[in-house]
Amino acid sequence: QAKHHGRNCYYVFNDQMSVDLAARLQLEAELKQAITEQQFSLSLQPKVCLTKRKLHSFEALLRWQHPTRGTVPPDLFIDALEQAQLMVDVGYWVFERSCQLCVQMMQQGLTDVVMAVNLSATQFLQVDLADNFARILAKYQLNGAQFELELTESTLVNNVSQTLDIMHQLKALGFAFAIDDFGTGYSSLNYLKRMPVDTIKIDKSFIQGMQDNEADLQIVISTIAMVHKLGLQVVAEGVETAENVAQLRYYQCDILQGYYFSRPIPETEINEFIQQVLTQQWPQALLQ
Ligand code: C2E
Ligand code: MG
Ligand code: MG
Ligand code: MG
Repeated sequence: QAKHHGRNCYYVFNDQMSVDLAARLQLEAELKQAITEQQFSLSLQPKVCLTKRKLHSFEALLRWQHPTRGTVPPDLFIDALEQAQLMVDVGYWVFERSCQLCVQMMQQGLTDVVMAVNLSATQFLQVDLADNFARILAKYQLNGAQFELELTESTLVNNVSQTLDIMHQLKALGFAFAIDDFGTGYSSLNYLKRMPVDTIKIDKSFIQGMQDNEADLQIVISTIAMVHKLGLQVVAEGVETAENVAQLRYYQCDILQGYYFSRPIPETEINEFIQQVLTQQWPQALLQ
């Protein structure tokens, strides 16, 4: 192909770039295959409400069961899905699968289940996003109020007026919004004011640092206070230790999520986990 662009073309490629390009094309081909062969699944990570001392919701996290490389984490393929313009389709699949799992858990007796779904910026470029979500909800007889949509700060800075428009349409369907990884993006407090956001998730880097690093601790304390003054809820992600739990309880964080309570649970193991929730073994035993 390169020769069509003239002989000088060879000077702009170096070996590393052609390797990168080949690897990217290979990854893209594998992702297309992953879609047709249904190699994606969801893992569900619970969040705990500290005041009610019970399950708050589940976050759906995308997993790729690669035929030879095993389970590939999303940080390694979400960008590639975006570049290959496959993220929108996969995003609808994630939402629909979340609906199916929600129904499955309700049938098991978990009546008030809430699912959190991560959305990427390109999904907000789809003007029919809310219509499509409404159609999928109707198919499963679910209500938007059973879902929380997690957005990163970078989504909120893209195409602000359209994003706001779509957020309002989704709000009208009952969906709640959370800002994910709060404090790591281009966070402008202005967005907090303008966007119909319900929840802030403090990024795990601050939670992991707060035990030993005074700056991280002060950021966590003041973020919790600010979020409460705005009348919103605050989640700490990446809670790994009992010390984290004690500190976050002391500073009145509302909701906790992290390996201390549970790793993301493969969808095939979710029934078993629900039994522990229904018999009140989880999370009570971890909150003594
Ligand atoms: P996120 O939404 O901020 O999800 C939290 C990530 O932290 C998850 O990684 C989770 O497994 C991990 N985590 C949870 N608790 C702990 C903990 O205590 N310690 C540590 N070290 N890590 C913890 P995961 O599943 O690899 O997902 C990474 C990111 O990929 C997510 O970050 C999210 O931004 C993105 N992602 C996942 N699923 C989807 C999806 O369906 N759509 C989109 N657009 N993005 C997704
Ligand atoms: Mg998230
Ligand atoms: Mg996060
Ligand atoms: Mg993240």
